Amino acid sequence: MRALRLLDWKTEPVLVEVDEPIPGPGQVVVRIGGAGACHSDLHLMHDFEAGAVPWNPPFTLGHENAGWVHALGQGVTGLDIGQPVAVYGPWGCGTCARCQLGIDPYCENVAAAPVPGGGGGLGLDGGMAEYMLVPDARHVVALPEGLDPVLAAPLTDAGLTPYHAVRRSWGKLPPGSTAVVIGVGGLGHVGIQILKATTAARVIAVDTREAALRLAEECGADLTLPSGPDSAEEIRRATGGRGADVILDFVGADPTLALGAAAARTVGDLTIVGMGGGTLPVGFFAVPYELSIQTTYWGSRPELEEVLDLGARGLVRPKASTYSLDDALTAYHKMRDGTLEGRAVIVP
Ligand code: NAD
Ligand code: ZN
Ligand code: ZN
Repeated sequence: MRALRLLDWKTEPVLVEVDEPIPGPGQVVVRIGGAGACHSDLHLMHDFEAGAVPWNPPFTLGHENAGWVHALGQGVTGLDIGQPVAVYGPWGCGTCARCQLGIDPYCENVAAAPVPGGGGGLGLDGGMAEYMLVPDARHVVALPEGLDPVLAAPLTDAGLTPYHAVRRSWGKLPPGSTAVVIGVGGLGHVGIQILKATTAARVIAVDTREAALRLAEECGADLTLPSGPDSAEEIRRATGGRGADVILDFVGADPTLALGAAAARTVGDLTIVGMGGGTLPVGFFAVPYELSIQTTYWGSRPELEEVLDLGARGLVRPKASTYSLDDALTAYHKMRDGTLEGRAVIVP
């Protein structure tokens, strides 16, 4: 079968011929219906080098995957051949306290995980191929009725990651509150929909690109602002001087982190999701009182079920454009150049 593989750091992936995977005991092979192209893959191609993460190329890209059960290893029960499924992406050890709760991203025994701190498409072979090996059937989640794998795929990361970030701030988003989404790309545009579907907060979206701000409006943003030196001031003006209760930064670069801190309300949340490599000085006089600042990584398995439910009911719908394996690089180039809208999904 053909697979889009990252062969080395600081290189672009290449389409090569590899063997079809065969499931061992407890494992599942999924026929891929869609594999989302995430900006993290661009970081893998261009920003990472040996030692940055505890794993290395070569591996097949694609960590947002959905499709149909193709083959079951010995002892796997509860799944049927041909059944539509999503793949839960972060793969922990499966037995530590966190993994038992389905919080694999924060596995505390990563040495016993299939790959430490990664998963399919992140150190192990992912879904940008016709078939994908899932090393443990517990990572295979049945799709709710009516949800197409092409839309389910981005929900496993571009949906799950913002869902987790929004969900942990639900308590700070009552009616009258304001949430700010910085960066309306693959994650951000779904994040806006999740805020609208699960909270009563007013949503302000910020991006450098005009097309992204139009997409934000389509997704239900109440106010859109071009990203720049005046953004914090404008967010304060739009919130009666108070600032935003919750800020979700899907960029994570120096200017967006500074914007987040400057636009946040006291007792607010500033959640850094983007891996833009920026830093933020924190100190008594540097940020609003009781502003909680955190990073988040992906989401839990129970949260994935919740996101898929929102997707199946049409409350959250990624704006997906599809590309063949042959055109996958085009999708990444468009993402890099800022000409992609929403999420690109590779359909092998
Ligand atoms: P994307 O390329 O689809 O979207 C990024 C958006 O940010 C674009 O619309 C771009 O115009 C906008 N942007 C860039 N600079 C900006 C600025 N200064 N101000 C405002 N907007 C700006 O990327 P994506 O796939 O949505 O991923 C976003 C980030 O999140 C990446 O860094 C990615 O690695 C990271 N990520 C993190 C997690 C996690 O678990 N924490 C999961 C997935 C992705
Ligand atoms: Zn991702
Ligand atoms: Zn674990």
